[in-house]
Amino acid sequence: MTKGVLLHTYEHAPFQKGGRVTTEFSKKHAARDIAPRNDDDGQVFAIEGGTVTDTEDSMSQGDDRANMVIIRGPDTLLTVYAHVDPSVAANQAVKIGDKIGDVDLSGDSSGSHVHLARLPSGTGTVDDVLERQDRGLFYQFKSLRPW
Ligand SMILES: [Zn+2]
Repeated sequence: MTKGVLLHTYEHAPFQKGGRVTTEFSKKHAARDIAPRNDDDGQVFAIEGGTVTDTEDSMSQGDDRANMVIIRGPDTLLTVYAHVDPSVAANQAVKIGDKIGDVDLSGDSSGSHVHLARLPSGTGTVDDVLERQDRGLFYQFKSLRPW
């Protein structure tokens, strides 16, 4: 039996005032970069419910990896929010709209944005996500306007 691959749709940008795509999905960048509006305070909200599998919180700008929050959704796939200083911890359950952290400039970032990636199920650790970052899945947003 062949199952059709459904294009995943997130309802919102991860910022309450919406956001804009600053770097599109491509073969080299298997994710989208979403920047907040200039008047946004940079709080980052879950755009899908699930369980936090791992976080990174010890990185600064220019370090070899970014701070991040990884959440496993109901379909077992992972949503990765990178360049985010976490306010949640592993094993925590989150609902859509819950605050999960604040955008920062950790890792390879020169301006406020969330590097948002969707990955097939795996262990969900930071190392797992970094090893598989080139395997990010294409997805779409229903809206990038304010919530
Ligand atoms: Zn990116």
